[in-house]
Amino acid sequence: MANAFEHPIYVTRPLLPNIEAVTERMKTVWDSQQLTNFGAQHDELSKKLKAYLEVDHISMFSNGTLALLLGLKALELTGEVITTPFTFPATVQALDWNNLTPVFCDIDPVTFNIDAEKIEALITEKTTAILGVHVFGNPCDVEKIQAIADKYHLKVIYDGAHAFGAKVNGVPISGFGDMTMFSFHATKLFNTVEGGALTYHDAALDKRLGLLRNFGIVNAEEVALSGLNAKMNEVQASVGLEVLKVVEEERNKRHKIKRTYEENLASVEGIRVLTTLENESSSYQYFVIEIDQEKFGQSRDFVHEELQKSNVFARKYFSPLCSDFTWYSGLASAQPENLPQAQKAVRKVLAMPYYGALTIESVAEICAIIEDIHIKEKNLFHLVEMRELG
Ligand SMILES: *Cc1c(COP(=O)(O)O)cnc(C)c1O
Repeated sequence: MANAFEHPIYVTRPLLPNIEAVTERMKTVWDSQQLTNFGAQHDELSKKLKAYLEVDHISMFSNGTLALLLGLKALELTGEVITTPFTFPATVQALDWNNLTPVFCDIDPVTFNIDAEKIEALITEKTTAILGVHVFGNPCDVEKIQAIADKYHLKVIYDGAHAFGAKVNGVPISGFGDMTMFSFHATKLFNTVEGGALTYHDAALDKRLGLLRNFGIVNAEEVALSGLNAKMNEVQASVGLEVLKVVEEERNKRHKIKRTYEENLASVEGIRVLTTLENESSSYQYFVIEIDQEKFGQSRDFVHEELQKSNVFARKYFSPLCSDFTWYSGLASAQPENLPQAQKAVRKVLAMPYYGALTIESVAEICAIIEDIHIKEKNLFHLVEMRELG
């Protein structure tokens, strides 16, 4: 029987850069006396991220939610936007705050991303865009989604909060759709404490997003549009510049952890590893498993609780489904019977502890706990079977 951990193990830990390096950088900020409003740190990070993400255009924001909210605003969308119910609340709340109606599309049971095959049937005269989420860093079916968008003249926006550094057949994830949002929240692989960015191909958006994130202010004399305050400040950018230096090292560590999970769970019946992308393509944002109750012998919720008893805090991402939020109860597309795969997924998925500082021994131990549950169940089953037979 596996032992309980002495200290709690959480699903993630923030990637912390060298504190002396951050302090050094902070001195430069203090000397400059410019704490926000697009200073030297902001511009340097913006340049470095452009190179890292291999994009032509980027705008940075105080967080990912405001980035998405203002990105949708900048595209001047109206009416309905087709999206997924299996995501973090921010995705659909960014629609709400733009007075856009989400139309929930069911998900693919393998990738758990929006099912591109089911999008077309949901398009109406009011549809103006498709908002996909690269869930757990696995890319959406970007080709098929673009083909549908081209046919119906729709915009394509991706919530890439989990997809920092992910690639599709060698093409950086930002290469797809009209716009991609990244989150730099502390729980994300790359963080600026809080923060976010939009990448896009249309150069005209640089100016528009620049206005939207800074009250629409053009200069001391002119306010051009109704914006918000969503600027990334110099302290955030400073931390980000130092975190960026340790991202590759973190990715390498997570690669080993991922391999250990995969090797240890491969033989456990009823467990499927969700994040199957190979090395250079993966964002290494989450390590997620799907538990098939019939084959495994116990439910996801049972495993979640057993792990907790051993001081391991896995997370039921993304539960509840966004379509089950009370304020969508009147939407036809939000009804559970229209989203059978999403309703199944939300009961089977578990995000496991995943961060570079997690030791390989701990990963093996966590896997042993899961295997123990399975073996116990199997033995119990045989016992009952034998009793019934004999
Ligand atoms: C983290 C996250 C967001 C929100 O980003 P913030 O930077 O925390 O505002 C949006 N969508 C998804 C899928 C996320 O995981």
